Amino acid sequence: MYKKRLYAPGPTEVPPEVLLELARPVTHHRTAEFRSLLGEVTELLKYVFQTSRDVYTITGSGSAAMEASVVNVVGAGEKMLAVVGGKFGERWSELGKAVGAEVITMDVPWGTAADPQQIADALKKHPDIVAVYVTHSETSTATAIDLKAIAGIVGKTPAVLVADCITSIGALEMRMDDWGVDIPVTGSQKALMLPPGLAMLACSEKAATKIAKTKNTSYYLKIPAYAKNLAKGDTPYTPANTLILALKTALGMIRAQGLESIWAETSLRARAMREAAQALSLTVYSRNPSDSVTAICVPDGVDGEALPKKLAKDYGLRIAGGQSQLKGKIVRFSHMGYVDNFDTLAQVAGLEMALRDLGAKVEIGRGVAAAQKVLAGA
Ligand SMILES: *Cc1c(COP(=O)(O)O)cnc(C)c1O
Repeated sequence: MYKKRLYAPGPTEVPPEVLLELARPVTHHRTAEFRSLLGEVTELLKYVFQTSRDVYTITGSGSAAMEASVVNVVGAGEKMLAVVGGKFGERWSELGKAVGAEVITMDVPWGTAADPQQIADALKKHPDIVAVYVTHSETSTATAIDLKAIAGIVGKTPAVLVADCITSIGALEMRMDDWGVDIPVTGSQKALMLPPGLAMLACSEKAATKIAKTKNTSYYLKIPAYAKNLAKGDTPYTPANTLILALKTALGMIRAQGLESIWAETSLRARAMREAAQALSLTVYSRNPSDSVTAICVPDGVDGEALPKKLAKDYGLRIAGGQSQLKGKIVRFSHMGYVDNFDTLAQVAGLEMALRDLGAKVEIGRGVAAAQKVLAGA
């Protein structure tokens, strides 16, 4: 018998303290208690976003915040730049088309990071671009971009920078105010140690100014309604208040450990996983790997779709395979949220065992030893 372990890059495992909050009786949201709770959660979110601006919490999965950051910012017929290097980057371009924007798509080879200079060139070529959409950590390819450098470039132009930080906030360094990221968006079920159901975003003054000027066709996702209500401690519609209660506990844990420490630990675990892959003569897919998720290429001769299934069925280890063009070609392991160094060792051990079961030549323990040396600082 194996314990069930959730190592997919979302949803991720939820700590017992947070699960217990989810078991509490449902409360009413138009109360002083809820307003005080939302106030506390918003302050904690500001810390996690590294901003002094308000952070809005929307009931919905991460894509709700993505949609809000498009429909409120780009009017029909306006030009936006979508940087696309994977499944989630594609979503920016699809959302832009859905709101009737003129979408300029910058295709980046999957598994590589967008070149900030290329973004600068695109902005020079199209000075009427009103917003630039990037993916800080592209979960489908396990690739990170240099968001700080990109923010430095976009910040010198009138364009608003929107970043999908769904697998970066709470795992990788992301500093909204210092770097000048105008709208970072995230969701509850990746690095924030919660079940799916909440989406969050914040808007810089530059972003808020653009939003105020944009003809907004949405109703549920209208950001000014969230802003107006939050000023009174409220949400415009019934919030997922049980999740918000649990969010307070999860963010409290993040605050207690400190973001810098979490970023460093996440980075160490990702490095351990990459060194394990190297020791096993496996290839890390990304040329610029994100530390929140690692994608490893399935070796020749191994059924790449059978590998995650085998890990789940025989070893209780739920990871993710590849999507779209990467289907059957990679396996992805999360380093986000409620994980520790022993989870990394379990990931490597499981990978070795399942690969061997599927006929690959694997020296059992070789990857584990390499990972353990990194984790132990040996
Ligand atoms: C998970 C994820 C999303 C999608 O979020 P949903 O919660 O499924 O709507 C978007 N972008 C990235 C980078 C993600 O990892």
